[in-house]
Amino acid sequence: MEPKPILAMVIPCCNEEAILPETAKQLKTILDNLISQEEIDGNSKIIFIDDGSKDNTWETITNLSEGNSIFSGIRFSRNFGHQNALLAGLMKAREFADASITIDADLQQDVSAIPEFLKKYKEGNDVVLGVRKERTADSFLKKLTGNFFYGMMKFMGVDIIPNHADYRLLSKKALDILSQYEETNLFLRALILKIGLKSTTLIYEQHERTAGETKYSFIKMLKFALIGITSFSTYPINLIFYFGCIILIVCAIAILNFIYEYLMGYTVPGWPTILVSIWFFGGVQLISIGIIGIYIGKIYNETKRRPKFIKESDIGFNNIKNK
Ligand code: UDP
Ligand code: MG
Repeated sequence: MEPKPILAMVIPCCNEEAILPETAKQLKTILDNLISQEEIDGNSKIIFIDDGSKDNTWETITNLSEGNSIFSGIRFSRNFGHQNALLAGLMKAREFADASITIDADLQQDVSAIPEFLKKYKEGNDVVLGVRKERTADSFLKKLTGNFFYGMMKFMGVDIIPNHADYRLLSKKALDILSQYEETNLFLRALILKIGLKSTTLIYEQHERTAGETKYSFIKMLKFALIGITSFSTYPINLIFYFGCIILIVCAIAILNFIYEYLMGYTVPGWPTILVSIWFFGGVQLISIGIIGIYIGKIYNETKRRPKFIKESDIGFNNIKNK
């Protein structure tokens, strides 16, 4: 019989005291079932990451953990953000688990999909990305900004899966690769796609938040979108360069037009010189800034020190003696 995998559930929590007991109950029921069905190992764990909560989130986690060894927790000294909370939980899970599933604390993502994630993992997938079915549970503004965000990301050349948030399964192998990315501006949903390995998606139902309120204000969402774009694309810099080129082209057309007007004999004195100088230097300045920007973009990409390649496995080197 195959060894049962150890599963880790990773749950970031920021001021979630209102919902945490219910979340813990539901997750425990699911894991208990999976353990009794011998689908997962009895040492599987639920890890809560308290991301600088100001309410009783940590006390709740402590009580849960003292009551049952399936619960564990990590407490941040202050708020470091959702993405860092996820990473902290995942890096802890990497120490002992074969597979880890990240899920929000608010039960918006359908917990009954957990066994399906596990099934896809057992079918050989190292990455299983949860994709939200419909955004009916979200407000009009959230839907609109969400769609605009995905559109912008796509336009900027960022590889992203629409409606995939942070409900996903990652195998130990995937986490080993993730740990090679040292960047501080974390945007996991795009970074995960750089891992490679065998991946698949899984469609799940999105519910409404039943308790507490969203921790993503409009400003926080905007900041998050900016991190997503600027961490994965230097396209905005190229836009400056292109814009400068367009202005120079407009300038050239203006020059041709003024020559034509001169030949036809109706030039306004002084006007062509002023207009052409403004457009010409405007264009030259934008192109210069764009060029400097492109170099800065390259420096930025270098500083991220992302792995140049990721080896999944190798074969046929056993009989080689290393020099
Ligand atoms: N969260 C966090 N740190 C933050 C903001 C959010 O750990 O600074 C957690 C939050 O507790 C929840 C998850 O991230 O478990 C998603 O947040 P939320 O449900 O408020 O976002 P929404 O679903 O409204 O986009
Ligand atoms: Mg939520």
